[in-house]
Amino acid sequence: MIDLRSDTVTKPSHAMREAMAHAEVGDDVYGEDPSVNRLQEVGAALVGKQAALFVPSGTAGNQLCLRAQTEPGHEVIVEGHSHIVRYEQGAASALAGVQLHWVHGAQGLMTAEQVEAAVRPKDPYSIQSALICIENTHNAGGGTVYPLSTIQAIRAVAIAHELPMHLDGARLFNAVVASGVSAAEYASHFTTVTFCLSKGLGAPAGSLIATDDRLLLERLRRFRRMYGGAMRQAGILAAAGLYALEHNIPRLAEDHANARRLAARLQQIPDISIAPGAVATNILFFDVHSQKLSLPEFVAALKREGVLLNAVGSRTCRAVTHLDVSAEAIEQAADAIACVLDRSRPPHIDSVPAPS
Ligand SMILES: *Cc1c(COP(=O)(O)O)cnc(C)c1O
Repeated sequence: MIDLRSDTVTKPSHAMREAMAHAEVGDDVYGEDPSVNRLQEVGAALVGKQAALFVPSGTAGNQLCLRAQTEPGHEVIVEGHSHIVRYEQGAASALAGVQLHWVHGAQGLMTAEQVEAAVRPKDPYSIQSALICIENTHNAGGGTVYPLSTIQAIRAVAIAHELPMHLDGARLFNAVVASGVSAAEYASHFTTVTFCLSKGLGAPAGSLIATDDRLLLERLRRFRRMYGGAMRQAGILAAAGLYALEHNIPRLAEDHANARRLAARLQQIPDISIAPGAVATNILFFDVHSQKLSLPEFVAALKREGVLLNAVGSRTCRAVTHLDVSAEAIEQAADAIACVLDRSRPPHIDSVPAPS
């Protein structure tokens, strides 16, 4: 199977499993797991922060950052199609007790003007803004990368209103590799930064929260315990995360090249449309306009050809490239897509053989 549903489907490589098997471990709730401690140091340094905390998932990372930097009844400014809004089961309201203020950005990217307009006045009647969240790359926006200048402008708004900023950097390193902006440069504008070791980096689980604020880190650690995310001999997983950080960052460029390769191939197919410049990193959205096949039928036909991808709307599909998909597999996937749509197309008049 060529699995383009998500970069979450990546499996630990043999070398990563070796690193896991040989990991030194201890009880991380006592702070005694050397592999976790090392991962936290390496991860913090990579994004230019003083310290980091290992958490089981990106969702846990986001939600701990929301909980630790707000009080129930506060409001958090967030893009309307962001992961925090759509895919975290309402945890911001259910667990942190905060209200989310949605801002709709083009391709998921908010502007400083939009964020400024969303900040509540500090009067006795208004709900109080407490935190600004940015998602980079933006998943539902199509793997889009925030221009550094936009982040700087939003940061200026945050400073003017004395608001902290949180970066949901689940795919931060895709943004880094695509833009050439360092992770530390991005992270310098945020009080808290989360990034996934799973997904494109290939670890089986785990995310890091990084921050310069030691008191906040202790708050995050307590909430991690409260949320059930404190683990014991987690060094087995941390070793995979370390391996991912040490080996799998630069190669994300291959995933981006593969996403562009797929887009270029699909652009040649009559029943497919792709917005110009649709590929920023490793996520590609495209529309299917088959007259014969519904989108679920198209996805099912592709599955029979050995290609998996997700339908995300009535016409739209999402394909995500990652370290378990080679350039060759991308060509095969494009062939399969062309073949499935070709078969479903009514024969063109010129291609009907003339009666003999
Ligand atoms: C995947 C993802 C997360 C976290 O997901 P988990 O499945 O909980 O690890 C957070 N934010 C974004 C933008 C994501 O794509």
